[in-house]
Order: sequence, then structure tokens, then C-alpha cells
Amino acid sequence: MYRFAPSPTGDMHIGNLRAAIFNYICSLQDKSGFILRIEDTDTERNIDGKGEEIKKILAIFGIKWDAEYIQSENLKFHRQLASQLLINKKAFACFCTPDELEAKKEAAKACGEAYRYDGTCERLSDSEVLENEKPFVIRMKKPERVMSFTDLIKGELSFEPDAIDSFVIMRADKTPTYNFACAVDDMLEGVTCVIRGEDHTSNTPKQELIREALGYNERISYAHLPIILNEDGKKMSKRDNSSSVKWLLESGFLPEAITNYLVLLGNKTPVEIFTMSEAAQWFDIKNVSRSPARFDIKKLEQINREHIRLANNKRLSEITGFTDETKLSLVRFYTQESSLLTEIIERVNLIYNNEKQFSSEHLANINQIRASIDDMLATGAPKDYDEFKKQLMGATNLKGKSFFIPLRLLLTGSEHGPELSELYPIISKDLKAIIKEKA
Ligand code: GLU
Repeated sequence: MYRFAPSPTGDMHIGNLRAAIFNYICSLQDKSGFILRIEDTDTERNIDGKGEEIKKILAIFGIKWDAEYIQSENLKFHRQLASQLLINKKAFACFCTPDELEAKKEAAKACGEAYRYDGTCERLSDSEVLENEKPFVIRMKKPERVMSFTDLIKGELSFEPDAIDSFVIMRADKTPTYNFACAVDDMLEGVTCVIRGEDHTSNTPKQELIREALGYNERISYAHLPIILNEDGKKMSKRDNSSSVKWLLESGFLPEAITNYLVLLGNKTPVEIFTMSEAAQWFDIKNVSRSPARFDIKKLEQINREHIRLANNKRLSEITGFTDETKLSLVRFYTQESSLLTEIIERVNLIYNNEKQFSSEHLANINQIRASIDDMLATGAPKDYDEFKKQLMGATNLKGKSFFIPLRLLLTGSEHGPELSELYPIISKDLKAIIKEKA
């Protein structure tokens, strides 16, 4: 059983999407199932509507989940299991106030030492705990041994007890921390493999410790994905627009291209261009590189172009809103000009725009060419561009730049663009609609 466990605290980052895609592909491979868990226990950071937005984005990417869980709905289990850990003395109540802890952190810092919880409350007797009426958090007891696990990408990893420390599992307001809620939910939901970002690597021994203390013996395997760096080699942050999945989609990148790119990134793949279901034929998480991958928007653009060209009419209609075959051919054709669907759609719409704006410099020639094409259309315009050009030049008496620039402007609305000889055969049967002026 695989899962994707996003927090509804911000725009979906490509790193999160990458984790979702990898988990989903693996679940398709071994048919073990895939669940979506919205981790909404950090109430202060939750943003209204983000859970729904995440679900919409996953749907856009063709990622389907077999079950959905809302973490906060598991609160009763979190509380019950935290009590069980207290009773079994795997965890302890800690009454240290935030001010006391802060002072100890400062003191450690002043001595140049890393702060660790000093065990004050772990040493309290049962009666000292029971008689204490102050608010308390629950801390896991620091393990007594080195905790190790084998990461599917990074290999064997070990953590000293001090690196794990007596960490908090329940806050004073009786809500679970991320590590506790996540460890418990993965157990209750029967998760068998977790693929997530490498920022969670140090959480894994804590989560394993929690489940071990609860007597859970099923193995969960882990793969931590290297971070994605921006073009300057720094960790991609919210400031990098291209780290936001929503931004990429709004900018005209196709979900299938983004998926392709994220699977390709820092990975060994048998081919460069593929769909998610093709990737499911050969994907192996062990081939993902341990080193950080660098985001390359140019590469993504190239992949985007390929996917626009490869899309069948049905898919292309879905994503462009065009149903007309000529327009769909134009979308594919304009990939030579632009790699972004939004820009391509703009170009195609401009061709058919009957209110194209022309500068006065070209207006007279444009009107002349339009009138001649109109005449030509009475008997049918030639299919062949050379023939069309010859007839039109003859009829207008224009040549060179004073012919070609106005012609291109009339047909495309733009002074620059693809070879007219290549464009003409695609649009020749739509000439009437294209040159029409709005009445
Ligand atoms: N909610 C965590 C996050 O979005 C989940 C991490 C995990 O997959 O365990 O970072």
C-alpha cells in the first residue's frame, strides 16, 4: 500500500507532486493500492481550500486514489495510542514550560552545544506526574540504541539516540505532532512503502521508533527523494515560480509533460518521452539518483512540445477547448514556434480573430490582398501555396516585403512566424473565415 500525504498548507510544490507520481506509479506496478491522506493536524498552518486544490491537481495528473483519509479525523486513535505509550512507559508526560526549554536551548547555544532534551520530566515518579496539574506535552523516550533503516535510494542510514532525542508526540492541546500522527496513520492504514522528500529522512527513525513502541511489526520500506534545485543550484523555494504546480499548469505546461519531466529528473530511464502508464512498465525507484536534481525549464519546454505533438485529437480538444481539426493541426504545427500551450492557443486564436489590429503602414496592402483573396475564393483558392502566391501577386501587383509582410499579417496577425509555405496548406480551406473582417 502506497500513500501520498500532503499538508494543506500551501501551493503544491513540484517536489510533492513528484512524490505523488512515484508512489502512484509504484502502486500501479504491484497493484497494492494508493491512498491520499490530507495531513491537516497543524491547524495554524492549514489554508482553507488547499485540500480540495490538491485533489483537483492530482485528478488533472490522472492520479486516482483508492481511499482518502483526513488526518484530523483520526484524532481519537492518536490520543488513545499516545495514552498506551504513556502507560507502557515508552513515552512520558513533560511539564517543562516553553520558557524553561527556551532558556536551556539558549544555554546550550552559548556553550556551542547542540540542544537535547535533558530528561527532567522523564525522571518524575508516577505520583509526581499524577499530582501535577500543569499543562503537559507527551514525549517519546529517546531510544537506547542506534536506529537504522535501509532507504531504497540512499542505502543504509543510521541515527544515534541523540539525533532522535526525546521528541514530542502530543502537544499540550492534546493534538498529535506530525511525526506521531504520520507514524500511527501509516500503521493503521496498512502502508507498506513510503516515498517522500528527503527533508523527511530524519523523521523516519522517529516514526519507526513510535510504531515499534506500539508493538507494530510490519515492515515499511522507505525511499527519500533528493531535493530539486533551481537553476542557480539552490533548493527550489516558493520564490521560484516553476516550483508551483499550479503555476506550471497555468503557464501552459501539460500535466503529461510535467509528469514525464519529473520522472526523468535524476533518473535512469529507457526512453526520454513517455506517459505515466508507460513509465509503470519499467519504473524502478532504485534507479533514482541520490544526488539532488537540477530543474531545467528548457528541458521541460522541449518535453512539453513533444507531448503537444503526440496528443491525439481528443486529448488536444480537452486541453485547448478547440474541436475543429484545422485548429488542432495548427496547435501541433505551432509547437515549432512555442513550447507553451497558452501561447500556442493565443497564436491560433489570433489567426481566426476577425479584429486583427494592423498598423497604418501595412493597411492599404492588407486590404488589397484581402480583396484579391476574396475574389479568388469565388472560384476556390488553390491548394498549392506557390500557385496561391503567384495568383495573388499577379492580382495585387505587389511583391517582396510589401507583399509578404501584409500577407502574413492578414493570415496570422503577426509579423513573424512559421514559413507561410508550411502554414498555408493547413489553413487553405479556412481562408474565408480567416480574412473576414468583423462587420
Ligand atoms: N505532510 C507531510 C508533507 O507534506 C508528509 C510527509 C510524508 O510523506 O510523510 O511534507
